[in-house]
Amino acid sequence: MANIGSMVLQMLKNEISEVDYTRYIKQIHYNEEESKSNYAVFNAPNPLIANWVRTKYADKISHLFEIKTGVKPTIFIGTHKAPPSTSTKETLKTPNPSDKVPHTLLNPSYTFNNFVVGGSNNFAYVAAKSVSEKAGIVYNPLFIYGGVGLGKTHLMQAVGNVMLAQGKTVIYTSVEQFLNDFSRHLSNRTMDRFKDKYRKCDLLLIDDIQFLSGKNQIQEEFFHTFEALRNENKQIIITSDKHPKKIGGLEERLKSRFEWGLVADIQPPELETKIEIIKKKCEINRVKLDKEVINYIATIIENNTREIEGILSKLNAYSQLMGVDINIQFTRNVLKEQIAEKRSNITIDTIVDIVSKELNVKATEIRSKSRNSSIVYARRVAIYLSRNLTPNSMPQLAHYFGMKDHTAVSHTMKKIQELMKNDEDFKIKVDELSNKVSSLTDN
Ligand code: ADP
Ligand code: MG
Repeated sequence: MANIGSMVLQMLKNEISEVDYTRYIKQIHYNEEESKSNYAVFNAPNPLIANWVRTKYADKISHLFEIKTGVKPTIFIGTHKAPPSTSTKETLKTPNPSDKVPHTLLNPSYTFNNFVVGGSNNFAYVAAKSVSEKAGIVYNPLFIYGGVGLGKTHLMQAVGNVMLAQGKTVIYTSVEQFLNDFSRHLSNRTMDRFKDKYRKCDLLLIDDIQFLSGKNQIQEEFFHTFEALRNENKQIIITSDKHPKKIGGLEERLKSRFEWGLVADIQPPELETKIEIIKKKCEINRVKLDKEVINYIATIIENNTREIEGILSKLNAYSQLMGVDINIQFTRNVLKEQIAEKRSNITIDTIVDIVSKELNVKATEIRSKSRNSSIVYARRVAIYLSRNLTPNSMPQLAHYFGMKDHTAVSHTMKKIQELMKNDEDFKIKVDELSNKVSSLTDN
């Protein structure tokens, strides 16, 4: 009968819409050979379907596995196109030590080439690049920290992909997986195998180390793994959502060791970088978008770059379904829900606050009746952003900004739109402000 993976997908079928099932879930297949109890591998026909399923259903699939087997596996959805016979041949052709490590653990598209470098991530990028060229010699460990979706996992796996291609043994793991592995080997009395695995690799990637916090036994084990690897000049890369010093519930000796190599941070991307990342993702996923649509997406997404792939697959799926091209109007419609959700977090007060800081005008002046030109300018921008980014109606805005009535607001809107059309610099400034408002009100 069917394997556990197909059973899980059948269970999922009962819980989701028919459209989602036929369009996405039905297209993916469980890869029994590459799966283990703590991770389940599925193959999808293309990156879009893989991303869609990953974003929307990975948690659910993992949960269904847990119901069936008692173990909650990490879900990997890849895009192996080759039939099994070819892949077997390939593995036979190029035997290397890393064959024991399932390649699916590293996302093959997380490469340096696919990483867009900007001011916000340049430091971490350069550090990772040097580590990939001189593993174990320069910065060891390399510690990368920053907010969600800023590319930490991408960068660490980029190093992994380089070394994997050189035939090195690479382990990518989360704290949870490391802990599970440890417990399993402990209860099976196979700790030697655990030590062999983690202490004899060429590169150990530990993602989201902040989850070590408060887990004393595993901190101890990790400490010894760390020492063993470093003594052998084997490279360690660690990511975290915060600086080592700021991770609570972590042994001092670990904290200090995390700073022995290099600590590199990643900041939220600037608008320009966001635009380049979207272009890159379009290229990888073979989605065609024009400049206007790209700029629009860049200004509405949060700092979390992870959203981009979700948006692209959504746009692509809808456009194929309806047989229309993706243009700005279409994009607005498709993303309406997403924007509505974000809008509910943004208030006029926040906007006025940001505009006043950015344009060096007092918030009270923006709401005053002053005709001073720089104040009028700031007021107009604030009104424009409030209209676009909050659910307030024109009469509500007129009331807030002390204007006569809604026609005054509508006049301001037209004025700004005209200016944006004719003045590229002005448009960039307004887009930037809009971006700032959206990102400050994230979460
Ligand atoms: P984190 O681990 O910091 O939460 P990820 O590495 O998972 O973030 O990145 C989230 C998504 O955003 C991934 O699809 C990644 O490829 C993409 N991404 C983030 N930063 C960049 C970048 N500078 N260039 C290209 N893609 C990026
Ligand atoms: Mg990550």
